[in-house]
Amino acid sequence: MARQSILISGAGIAGPTLASWLLRQGFEPVLLERAPRFREGGYIIDFWGIGFDVAERMGLIPRLREAGYVNDRISFVGRNGGVRSSFGGAAIRRALGDRFLTIQRGDLAHAIYGTIEHRVETVFGDSVKAIEQTPDRVDVGFEHGGWRSFDLVVGADGLHSAVRAALFENHPSVERDLGYYVAVFVTRGYSRRDEHVYLSYAAPGRQISRFALRDDQTGFLFVFARVDGWPDPVHDTASQKRVILENFGHEPWVEWPEIKRHIELCENFYFDTVSQIELPSWSVGRAALVGDAAYCPSLLAGEGSAFAMAGAYILAGELQHAYGDHASAFASYERRFRPFVERKQRAARAFASSFAPKTSLGLVVRDVVLRLGAIPAIADLLMRRFVVDRFELPGYLPGPVGNH
Ligand SMILES: Cc1cc2nc3c(=O)[nH]c(=O)nc-3n(C[C@H](O)[C@H](O)[C@H](O)COP(=O)(O)OP(=O)(O)OC[C@H]3O[C@@H](n4cnc5c(N)ncnc54)[C@H](O)[C@@H]3O)c2cc1C
Repeated sequence: MARQSILISGAGIAGPTLASWLLRQGFEPVLLERAPRFREGGYIIDFWGIGFDVAERMGLIPRLREAGYVNDRISFVGRNGGVRSSFGGAAIRRALGDRFLTIQRGDLAHAIYGTIEHRVETVFGDSVKAIEQTPDRVDVGFEHGGWRSFDLVVGADGLHSAVRAALFENHPSVERDLGYYVAVFVTRGYSRRDEHVYLSYAAPGRQISRFALRDDQTGFLFVFARVDGWPDPVHDTASQKRVILENFGHEPWVEWPEIKRHIELCENFYFDTVSQIELPSWSVGRAALVGDAAYCPSLLAGEGSAFAMAGAYILAGELQHAYGDHASAFASYERRFRPFVERKQRAARAFASSFAPKTSLGLVVRDVVLRLGAIPAIADLLMRRFVVDRFELPGYLPGPVGNH
C-alpha cells in the first residue's frame, strides 16, 4: 500500500505533534510553516494534564524540564508592590503530582519539532492559498510555491488558520470574541526578578503580569478589556504600543514607569484578541483541523497547548486505527475529543470575568477567593474542579499502518 501523503499547515504545537505520530505510524507528513524559520522562546505557558501525558509518550519530559521553569507561586500585588493575595504551588503539586511545568511556548514547539527534524519535509515561508478537493486527493495552491497534490490536508495553523478560512469561507462566524486584548513581550535587563513567581498587578479591566526568565530576561503579559474605537485587528508594532500605552498610560503601579520604558524600546509584540473558535465540524472531506485552528479555547483556558497536542495525538491514532480511512478517522477523532474541549471552552468563558475583573469589587472577590485558596481543603477542591483533566487519553497500537 502506498504511504498516504498528509500536508500539515502550521509548525506550532499541534502540527509537529501530528507529524511526529503520523511518521511513526507509516504516513508521509509534510509540514508547512508561514514563518521563515522555527521560532523559539516567546510567551510562557503552564503545561500539564493530557498534553503532559502525550509529551511523556513522546519521551519529551526530560528535555521540557531542562528547557522549562518552576513556577512556585502566583502573587497579586497592589500599587506599592505589596502582596494582596497569593496562591502557592503546593496545591498544584498535590493535585497533579509532579506532572506540571512552565516553559516558553516556542521551546515546547521546538522540542516537539526535534522528534521529526530532518526526517519530515518542512517548507518554511509559505502558506496555503487555495484548497480543491476531488474524491481521491486534495490539490493545494501555495502563496509562493504553485500547486501540489496530497491524500489529506490538516490545518494546524492556529487561531487565524488559513486552512480553516479555505474550508469554511461561507460560514458566518466561527470566532467568539471574549472582549479582551492580549499582548506579550520579552525584554532584557528589567530590574526586578522575583524568581519562580508569576507576579500580577490588576486594575479594573486590565492586568499586567511578569515572570523572570534566564539570561536576565523577563516575560510580560498584558490582558485588557477592549474599548470601542480601537483599531481591530492591530497589526503594526507602533499601533500596538499606542493601544497599550493609552490603556495603561496612567497606571499608579510602582513598576509602571520602568515597564513603560521597556515597552518603548521593544521591537515586537505578540498582540491579539482573546477569542475562541467554534466550528460546526472539524473536517470537510479530505481536510481536517486540529489545535487552535479547530477549537481554540483561548489563553483563559490555560491549557490550549495541551489540547493541541492531545488533539493531534488522537487524530493520528484514529487515522492509524482506521488504516487511513479518513472519513471514519475524522469522525472518531471529533466524537472522542469534542465534548471534552467544549466543556473546557465553557469553563474558560465562565472564568473570563475573574481573570481580569472589570470592576473594583471583582478584584476584591478575586483576592478573597485566592486567600481562601491558602486553606488546603479549599485549594484541593479548586484544583480538582478546574485543573485536573477528566479525559482518558486513548492508547493506540504502536507501529506503522498495516502492521496490525
Ligand atoms: C498569551 C498566551 C498565553 C497562553 N498560555 C497558555 C498556558 O499557560 N498553557 C497552555 O497550555 N496554553 C496557553 N496558551 C495557548 C497556547 O499557546 C495555544 O493554545 C497553542 O499554542 C495552540 O497550538 P497550535 O499548534 O494549535 O497553534 P500555534 O501554537 O498558534 O501554532 C500555529 C502555527 O501555525 C503557523 N501559521 C499561522 N498561519 C499560517 C499559515 N497561513 N500557513 C502556515 N503556517 C501558519 C504559525 O506561525 C504557528 O507556527 C496561551 C496563549 C497565549 C496567546
